[in-house]
Amino acid sequence: MHRFFIPPNTIHDNRVILRGDIIHQIRDVLRMRIGDSIILLDNSGFAHQTKLTLIDRDTVRGTVEDRWQLDTEPSTHITLYQGLLKGQKFDWVLQKGTEIGITTFVPVLAARCIVGNLEDVSGVRIDRWERIVVEAAEQAGRASLPHLANPTLFIHACELAARSGLSLIPWEEEHNRSLREALVQVPKSKQINIFIGPEGGFAEEEIAVAKEHGIIPVSLGPRILRAETAGLAATSAILYELGDLG
Ligand code: SAM
Repeated sequence: MHRFFIPPNTIHDNRVILRGDIIHQIRDVLRMRIGDSIILLDNSGFAHQTKLTLIDRDTVRGTVEDRWQLDTEPSTHITLYQGLLKGQKFDWVLQKGTEIGITTFVPVLAARCIVGNLEDVSGVRIDRWERIVVEAAEQAGRASLPHLANPTLFIHACELAARSGLSLIPWEEEHNRSLREALVQVPKSKQINIFIGPEGGFAEEEIAVAKEHGIIPVSLGPRILRAETAGLAATSAILYELGDLG
């Protein structure tokens, strides 16, 4: 059954009135009919099975017939601080990271990003990123929408991460501390921050700044992962290690 995130306050006394882009999706793309059912996700952890009772030009109405609490969010909240990437690679990180269970994405302007400055990240691109996260969360059956933060300078990302949880910066030049060792050294942290560089990696000065903020360099092994692979590999390993991935 198709799932859709809906704005808060869309459901009143089991009555639903939908407006906006979702109408086109239901009526024209999915060609749904009165009597069909969909699952509405209210982003507070509940799913509402809803039978369609009216489909017209600019509204769809329905009646909630069942509701249940979703238990699909990882207990460990991972924030991925991802160096901005060229082309569609960042889209890919958002989609796969949402499926795997990332809670927050922070696009980071690092020294070697091909993107010149924060102003180069257009509103159009951010809108597209928002849509990718919503669609991936619906497909994955997430209970909550991952948060997409505004693009941020590296130094500000370090200051943000230093405020809470265990912060790791996978660095291919780190040969002494593995990801696994970093995880066992500290009590089970419910908030883990992962810094992944852009295609050209982090500059030495950025690693030094990260260390000053208590962000721990770790190795992801002897193979060099592409920037769009590394965050997903680290997230999967961490969630698996903490029992949040099967
Ligand atoms: N120096 C890399 C190269 O030679 O291609 C460029 C950086 S790599 C493509 C992009 C990012 O992925 C790095 O900044 C790092 O965060 C992460 N990464 C990739 N492989 C890694 C590894 N084996 N250990 C730790 N981090 C890695």
